[in-house]
Amino acid sequence: MQYYSTNKQSAVADFKEATIKGLAPDNGLYYPENIPVLSKEFISNINSLSKEEIAFTVIKPYVGDIIPEPVLRQIVSETVYFDFPLIKVTDDIFSLELFHGPTLAFKDVGARFMSRCLGHFVTGNDREITVLVATSGDTGGAVASGFLNVEGVNVVILYPSGKVSSVQEQQLTTVGNNICAIEVSGNFDDCQRMVKEAFADKELNDELFLTSANSINVARWLPQQFYYFYAYQQWTDKNNPPVVCVPSGNFGNICAGLVAHISGLPVKHFIAACNANNAVADYLQSGIFNAKPAIATISNAMDVGNPSNFVRILELFQHQYPAIKNVMSGYSITDDTTRQTLKDVYEKYHYLTDPHGAVAFNALQQYLAKHAGDKGIFLETAHPVKFYDVVEPVIQKQVHIPEAIKGIMSRKKESILMTPSYNMLKEYLLS
Ligand SMILES: *Cc1c(COP(=O)(O)O)cnc(C)c1O
Repeated sequence: MQYYSTNKQSAVADFKEATIKGLAPDNGLYYPENIPVLSKEFISNINSLSKEEIAFTVIKPYVGDIIPEPVLRQIVSETVYFDFPLIKVTDDIFSLELFHGPTLAFKDVGARFMSRCLGHFVTGNDREITVLVATSGDTGGAVASGFLNVEGVNVVILYPSGKVSSVQEQQLTTVGNNICAIEVSGNFDDCQRMVKEAFADKELNDELFLTSANSINVARWLPQQFYYFYAYQQWTDKNNPPVVCVPSGNFGNICAGLVAHISGLPVKHFIAACNANNAVADYLQSGIFNAKPAIATISNAMDVGNPSNFVRILELFQHQYPAIKNVMSGYSITDDTTRQTLKDVYEKYHYLTDPHGAVAFNALQQYLAKHAGDKGIFLETAHPVKFYDVVEPVIQKQVHIPEAIKGIMSRKKESILMTPSYNMLKEYLLS
């Protein structure tokens, strides 16, 4: 498989080059030259297949012979080693829980897969690679955990001091070994600017082999298809495929679902559930796309004003608005409605969502109210404990901390404090 840049000004790249580069040199996103079609037998036999077999079959055409089959099988099984249960919430709404991974968010899947691919690509290199990433919360933890102890790769994560939840901070700062957390006395934009300056600094790049673990990387984006297949595997009414609702920010997750669907996965309709950041929801209603400045909300992992992966959705449908509109709808949900939904679902159905899941639940409910006979799945993208500061006041109860992360909460935080100055970052990276 070759990947072209969505800006069409760079040469095509294979899976290895696309993964190492992240962004194409012309600043476009890498996009597969074709979308593979899965066999009908694969879909009709899906209930007899293991998680590992499904993931391997789905990803293999994208990787081709770039990674030897046994290595790719190993990477896949280390990526999907946890559960992806589909939980019934109401008679027609199910939750696909994507928070059973090590950092309790769906980003674990992409981060684990990408880190292992990169680890494979640097094996035998005499030069170590440095992954530099800025996080507003969820990405950092998933990247830290995913890259821990991957040989030949060092990870430097910048996060805004005091602006991530305590669970998220512990996940970033207690990992150690090849993972270093830099605590910036500024906001997320400062962190992102410092990272961008580093990538643009020729002197630094001559000295260090720098790459990013950004969500636009093909090795983070494409494995996100896996759990859409696991949802279908657990869907009992195969004659009436599900409507799938995805809480969306940068639109990588839903775009992976659309790719899975075009490859042959039965899905009746997709819903992009957005918070107040509604650029794509507006586009789906009007056919006109306008990027907007990001607005802060209580579902902050979706606070994206200009979603990077939107261009991949356009590419997937040859820029044909009617075709896109036919397959997906968009909703924008306010913070008030999100809180109310979280509370209602908890009280009526005894199911606790996180704020992102609540946005998706509400959008799905609105859609199903107008489509009698349809049933649906929403993606529960994070464990509610990651957003306890929002969830607890709404339900007036403490959120139970899962065993898996209790250990992290008592570990000692280690971070390097920095003012939002690029020179300090550069000095550190060169030391
Ligand atoms: C990152 C994230 C999202 C948004 O996913 P995109 O692929 O950027 O659309 C939704 N929910 C949670 C909890 C996240 O961390």
